[in-house]
Amino acid sequence: MKVFLGGARGSFPVSGADQMRYGGGTFSLLVEDREGGQVLIDAGSGARRLKGRLRPGGTAFFTHTHLDHLIGLPMLAKVWPQRLLLPRGGLKEILARVFSPPVWPVKLPAADFPVPVAPVEIGGLRVNWQPVAHPDGCVSYRVDEPATGASVVVATDLEWQMMTPRAQDAFALFARGTDLLVFDSHYRPEEYAAHKGWGHSAWTDAVEAARRTGARKLWLMHHAPGRADAEIDAMGVEAAALFSGAVFATEDAMMETLHE
Ligand SMILES: [Zn+2]
Ligand SMILES: [Zn+2]
Repeated sequence: MKVFLGGARGSFPVSGADQMRYGGGTFSLLVEDREGGQVLIDAGSGARRLKGRLRPGGTAFFTHTHLDHLIGLPMLAKVWPQRLLLPRGGLKEILARVFSPPVWPVKLPAADFPVPVAPVEIGGLRVNWQPVAHPDGCVSYRVDEPATGASVVVATDLEWQMMTPRAQDAFALFARGTDLLVFDSHYRPEEYAAHKGWGHSAWTDAVEAARRTGARKLWLMHHAPGRADAEIDAMGVEAAALFSGAVFATEDAMMETLHE
């Protein structure tokens, strides 16, 4: 299994001299199996960086439909997915509202929008999901490659401290033993109290979740729009001291090979 991260920023695409390393593109992630089967998860503005790798006619899963997770879709025109999936359904209508004149001048290409039933098998990959706490709803995805035992769990846009102990346990079970946990780390712990209910976690929550799931590696992501590289560097040092596999994700088509 190979995992490619297109964008790690949260909420809005940004740019700036002090944001070059962790990047400004919003979330999009591609998982590939050994034979090249592909699963795209979300299409934030960072999807642009995955275009060269993506093959047309594939499958794209969406965690939810907030703009920062959709805004890269029009850039995928030449590698347009055949199936676009949102577990709770309604995706076609939502996309038609966002990407149609006069908000967006070009209609999106035709595709199928089946309401999926878990697990969904794509090539050698098996995709499952689970609801998490976030305004308007959101799901986390787990992608397994049974042939190699590799797995990745994508847990963007979730507020760990708003999840009940039972929901946290359910998440820990869902993500148990994953090779790579990709987790919402929007806030510093001291910022979180002023943003309770906004739908995001502190990086310390991501570390806690990684420990409870027994994840091997942790990519901290959904960086706050105003966060500068130097600040994320400092957070990264603290995070790595608490969890040896923790890395704040950079935008640079970050790639991880799991169980090759
Ligand atoms: Zn988001
Ligand atoms: Zn969101």
